[in-house]
Amino acid sequence: MTGETYDYAVVGAGSAGCVVARRLVEQGADVVLLEAGAPDEEHEEVISTPARFPELFRTETDWEYYTEPQPEMNDRRLYHPRGKTLGGSSSLNAMIYNRGVPWDYDNWAAMGNEGWDHDAMLDAFKRSEDFVGTGDEEFHGEGGPLTVADLSDPHPTSEAFVEAAVECGMERNVDINGRSQTGAGLYHVTQRDGKRCSSAAAFIKPVLDHEGLTVETRAHVTDIRFDDANRAVGVDYEIDGETHRVDVADEVVLSAGAYDSPQLLMCSGVGPADHLREHGIDVVADSPGVGRNLQDHLFAFVVYDRTDDEPPAPTSNIGEGAGYTYVDDGEPAPDLQFHFCPTYYMNHGFDNPEGLGFSIGSTQLRPESRGRVALASADPTDDPVIDPRYLSAEPDLEVLREGIKRAREIAQSEALDSVRGEEVWPGEDVQTDAEIEEHVRETAHTVYHPVGTCRMGDDESAVVDDRLRVRGVDGVRVADTSVMPNIPSGNTNAPAIAVGERAASMIGD
Ligand SMILES: Cc1cc2nc3c(=O)[nH]c(=O)nc-3n(C[C@H](O)[C@H](O)[C@H](O)COP(=O)(O)OP(=O)(O)OC[C@H]3O[C@@H](n4cnc5c(N)ncnc54)[C@H](O)[C@@H]3O)c2cc1C
Repeated sequence: MTGETYDYAVVGAGSAGCVVARRLVEQGADVVLLEAGAPDEEHEEVISTPARFPELFRTETDWEYYTEPQPEMNDRRLYHPRGKTLGGSSSLNAMIYNRGVPWDYDNWAAMGNEGWDHDAMLDAFKRSEDFVGTGDEEFHGEGGPLTVADLSDPHPTSEAFVEAAVECGMERNVDINGRSQTGAGLYHVTQRDGKRCSSAAAFIKPVLDHEGLTVETRAHVTDIRFDDANRAVGVDYEIDGETHRVDVADEVVLSAGAYDSPQLLMCSGVGPADHLREHGIDVVADSPGVGRNLQDHLFAFVVYDRTDDEPPAPTSNIGEGAGYTYVDDGEPAPDLQFHFCPTYYMNHGFDNPEGLGFSIGSTQLRPESRGRVALASADPTDDPVIDPRYLSAEPDLEVLREGIKRAREIAQSEALDSVRGEEVWPGEDVQTDAEIEEHVRETAHTVYHPVGTCRMGDDESAVVDDRLRVRGVDGVRVADTSVMPNIPSGNTNAPAIAVGERAASMIGD
């Protein structure tokens, strides 16, 4: 079977993949973009209406993954939504636009990754951006494909949260993506005129008619094919159970996300040799780091009833309010992040009671726990084994415990007096450190930020080099959150988009 030949095949039309495809097409290349999910038009109304994103959970637009039982979290198997449609997780996410801190990227560079320092990443952030929000021009871009805006109709309770945080000693910050991330304010959002601006809407829709771009949806890539010299020559994919094939003249770019990129590499013969042999897969390259170094952020919530009767606006991204502060003053940047929701947000929203509430999620920004992604079988359409090993490093629990205490303090401040009802989570009877820790173990869940499973670096166990080329083979790069050596100190959509920008520049060099 032979297939059509393209210069590049980009696997996965998510946050990063859409950027890579768009930029390569602009550079004059012939590109096929292969996405396992359905066209986003099929769920247009829900995807584009910001406040409705939780309705996408456990639908056909969600890979609906579950972790292995997590020993430090009462053996729970945690639900992990991942976007499965054009736009990937940027079509399903909470639209918060947050870059992390300069230290994150200077640290990546200090780990031996040339071209990934803060200056280079700031350039990439700005290139993508069409900023129409409140902030310092020096740090923002204009005229890029991705609209970044202020919330058009923030909830009064979110504004009260900012006042409450200030009451508790945090500084007010109107631009957490500007000179400093520290303090409390409202998030910027990837929205255009109050509608979601996904990576697909920003980068792909405007060039759909371009002769250099072919987009295939419901196309699940099952194999990267290599020749005898270990050079990638194309990919196979399935649509409705039927196998199709494309060939590439230049490269395959893997942008399938932090769970599926390592899985597809392993199913194609690139990964830890022993693990591949266990599943009867022929080893193309022994790459022990594939699937290792999994990092993610956890959310631990305090939740209150609200006594007012104002629901969030349809343009609400739910996670409206931002806060960044220190538990450990010796850290290079804030180690604790707050997300304020003018709603209940319990178990991804599945366990929300009737009525109105507010929630403050605490997140440790630079967790030390490391997990892994592995194969359950050689079948690329099976779910991968996901084991984040949450809270396996002791400091991770401490920061979340302190976060709960600080969040409670903010929630009980005067600025929230007029709307605060009963404390639902953790509840009045949870007071000691041990009780709070138990609340974290029993209720915390992912902030949806898995990264690091195809780590970039200059050592033998790094999966890709600093130009994102997969070691041990030719003609394959990875461009998505899986290449991040360490998790950024914030949300991961903007960094994923910047990885896409950096990848395309490197390919074009
Ligand atoms: C519910 C939720 C809320 C979030 N909220 C925020 C937020 O508010 N702000 C923020 O910054 N971050 C947020 N995130 C995280 C952020 O969206 C992700 O980090 C980011 O989108 C990841 O980008 P990516 O390119 O690595 O992967 P993805 O965007 O997940 O893209 C991977 C793509 O590859 C496709 N794919 C996978 N396997 C295959 C295959 N074999 N063949 C073909 N296609 C394949 C997938 O369907 C998907 O489209 C959230 C994530 C989720 C799930």
